[in-house]
Amino acid sequence: MKATVKLVTAALAALAVTTGAGAAGTGARWEYQGKAGAAHWGELAPDFSACRQGRAQSPVNIRAARTGTHAPIGFGYRASSADIVNNGHTVQVDLADAGGIDVGGTTYRLVQFHFHTPSEEIVNDRRYPLVAHLVHKSDAGELAVVAVLFRQGRDNAALASVFANMPATAGGRHAAGADFDPAALLPARRGYYGYTGSLTTPPCSEGVRWHILKQPVEVSPVQLAAFRKLYRMNARPVQPLNGRVVVVNP
Ligand SMILES: [Zn+2]
Repeated sequence: MKATVKLVTAALAALAVTTGAGAAGTGARWEYQGKAGAAHWGELAPDFSACRQGRAQSPVNIRAARTGTHAPIGFGYRASSADIVNNGHTVQVDLADAGGIDVGGTTYRLVQFHFHTPSEEIVNDRRYPLVAHLVHKSDAGELAVVAVLFRQGRDNAALASVFANMPATAGGRHAAGADFDPAALLPARRGYYGYTGSLTTPPCSEGVRWHILKQPVEVSPVQLAAFRKLYRMNARPVQPLNGRVVVVNP
């Protein structure tokens, strides 16, 4: 029982971070596969209904992107103290004061980033072994996510301390030092695919602005294996676009 209570508490904590205090809801137990898997999220709790009924859900398969004059992302990250958390669904790095981004005149503060394997996003029918979602929040409570895709290659130096210190059990938390710089996570080129979607975990809330960086970075097989030892598969299947347009900022 103890383990279950821990998991639920961790899930609530994760939701509180992603959706804001007060919107955490029931914290119903969910998984990626099986009876509480992604196909059933919408039935698990009333406040998860967007997972089934939402018309603008994430992730999506990005095939045809329209070239547009979408605003570039202004990155203003800075080194911050960081905590590595195993929340029962992924490994998440909570950042205390890491700066943020500016998109189209709105400033969003970087709150946390976390991983999915394989990548939830599919780009031109290609799925990557790993993705990091950098979750940002504006003063008005709006969410903007920057997705960094990983292809298999060399050790990722920026994430060495994270991959080496992931808590083995749900609810575990490790301090990752006082000077973690999220800018080191980013690829050299900042072009992105943009669209409006949702959280990819319950409660699947919509109105999330997605920015999927086109250029992947690298992760080594050893680092990938360290994450997959904890989470073998934690990716929601792609959702229908339902007429939404994906723009590309070259
Ligand atoms: Zn995510």
